[in-house]
Amino acid sequence: MKAWHLKHEEWSNEFKVLIESELNQLLEVPVRRGVNLRNETRWKIGGIAEFLIEPSTIGEIQSLVAYFNKNSLPFTFIGATSNILFDSRGISAFLVKIGDRLNSFEVEAQTVTAGAGISVPSLVRRTSELGLAGITHAAGIPGTLGGLVVMNGGTQRKGIGENVNRIWVVDTEGDLTVIEKEDLQFSYRDSILKEKVLAVVTVELSLTSGDRLTLMAEIEEILSERSQKFPQDLPNCGSTFLSDPSMYQLVGPPGRAIEEAGLKGLQKGDAQISELHSNFIVNTGNATDNDVLWLIAKVRREVEKKTGYLMNCEVLHMDQWGNLRPAHEVADQRFVLSQDEIGI
Ligand SMILES: Cc1cc2nc3c(=O)[nH]c(=O)nc-3n(C[C@H](O)[C@H](O)[C@H](O)COP(=O)(O)OP(=O)(O)OC[C@H]3O[C@@H](n4cnc5c(N)ncnc54)[C@H](O)[C@@H]3O)c2cc1C
Repeated sequence: MKAWHLKHEEWSNEFKVLIESELNQLLEVPVRRGVNLRNETRWKIGGIAEFLIEPSTIGEIQSLVAYFNKNSLPFTFIGATSNILFDSRGISAFLVKIGDRLNSFEVEAQTVTAGAGISVPSLVRRTSELGLAGITHAAGIPGTLGGLVVMNGGTQRKGIGENVNRIWVVDTEGDLTVIEKEDLQFSYRDSILKEKVLAVVTVELSLTSGDRLTLMAEIEEILSERSQKFPQDLPNCGSTFLSDPSMYQLVGPPGRAIEEAGLKGLQKGDAQISELHSNFIVNTGNATDNDVLWLIAKVRREVEKKTGYLMNCEVLHMDQWGNLRPAHEVADQRFVLSQDEIGI
């Protein structure tokens, strides 16, 4: 079966049923079809995903990748979706979610080897309970370890890359290979993995020894501070814009720049610049990706007009074919704002 001659949005239902049944032979848990992403994703935004797959083992991921390649089928890996804005027109690519089912956790001295699907808050708690230090800064990040490594996520200008020794990935051929830290090119909220279609399946972290009670207290303090600073009740994807070091020195963090540009609380459709923290965009009901992208385009132009800095997004946008790009690139393509809209 070769699908390369078809545009996948034109696949017939018979073809989809055939693929579904072939995929189910590779999986312990059946493929989900026609999944409403508004019910599945962190921002509660997105259309219908044709296929959502949650593999249970690394072997299943290897078989899936080999199958997709053999049949020229488009696929993308996701974690907890805490950094992705999904296209409201729906996703035709095969979404492969690396989550809870891949949450192994092993400790040898100060080295922790964990499945990429483990949730970051749970990883931080478990290591801290064992008196292992170095990653408490990530205690409040609601993603998976795999997503954290791809994004080099963290807080206080730290990134998980500082603690990564090596990772295991399923490569484009379906083979399991190791990538050493030096080859991952970690930089601020970035790694080489963002440009590759590789499944991160296991991560080896190097931690240091710390006092268990001090670490647990640190976690509580971080969580309590975040619960006051960041919106808790409305769906969001954390910080929308990246903090640029030179802008930070002269103007401050993105949240302050957005607030000073008078944009706090600005609403487009059901998307709103949070009243609590201006670098967060919240979904007040039925927001679409276009609502969020319009706000991103507006914020970029207004802040640039006021400060001279053009802010880039940390948040990624996924298009209908499963391609991921920083959301501002898509916002700029979709919305060329008139002079009235940017208040010139
Ligand atoms: C309330 C809130 C607060 C946040 N605070 C912070 C913060 O303080 N610091 C911070 O850095 N981030 C923060 N974030 C953003 C987000 O949580 C992080 O970027 C997180 O690391 C993303 O992990 P994820 O599992 O949700 O990945 P996803 O959002 O699902 O995916 C992000 C990227 O990683 C890729 N990916 C995910 N898993 C895998 C895998 N196993 N293999 C290959 N590719 C994969 C995806 O393809 C995508 O490119 C916050 C988000 C929210 C909602």
